[in-house]
Amino acid sequence: MLACDFGNLNSEITMVNNSKADWLHIDVMDGVFVPNISFGTPIMNILKKNAKKPLDVHLMIVNPDNYIEKFAELGSSVLTVHFEACTHLHRTIQRIKSLNMKAGVAINPHTPVSSLEAIIKEIDIVCIMSVNPGFGGQTFIETTYQKIEDLKLLISKHNSNALIEIDGGVTSNNAKKLVEKGADVLVAGSFVFKSDNPTNTISTLSTLIN
Ligand code: ZN
Repeated sequence: MLACDFGNLNSEITMVNNSKADWLHIDVMDGVFVPNISFGTPIMNILKKNAKKPLDVHLMIVNPDNYIEKFAELGSSVLTVHFEACTHLHRTIQRIKSLNMKAGVAINPHTPVSSLEAIIKEIDIVCIMSVNPGFGGQTFIETTYQKIEDLKLLISKHNSNALIEIDGGVTSNNAKKLVEKGADVLVAGSFVFKSDNPTNTISTLSTLIN
């Protein structure tokens, strides 16, 4: 939703509700963990009220532990925290899961997949950042493909059920290859919302992944 028109938020939500999108991805930025501020509770309340898709909330914030209960109340189905922002990641994941949300862990482009080795079995979703987080509309980082392969190996080595989510710069040009490499979830922002026909764009991407 980061790339949507916030002046027409309800019609953007309706578009997504009526589209083939599986989830609604919500980027929460604090201006500290990333050099940008997106939105917080008031927008989340509107999304909770009007969205019919599961809310996939991506916290790009420091001290995410302080907000886990809040985002459970705000209707998150998936709550993703950043590996780089969590000192006690195991505890954070357990708290997210104890509130009946799926626990996601995002890794920045500079963080190797191997950092997740000790925790991969506990994670429901690994979000590989394929751009540096903070802004929409950035160019896809090509080393992401290798990271997906590394993550696939790590997941099977540890018999984990974690899904692989790719966030940043996803377009119809790279979606197919991402899925072939092993991506389970593709996040598309600008590519959808800045397209001439967002509903069709979602359909096109959806046929590549399903
Ligand atoms: Zn995101």
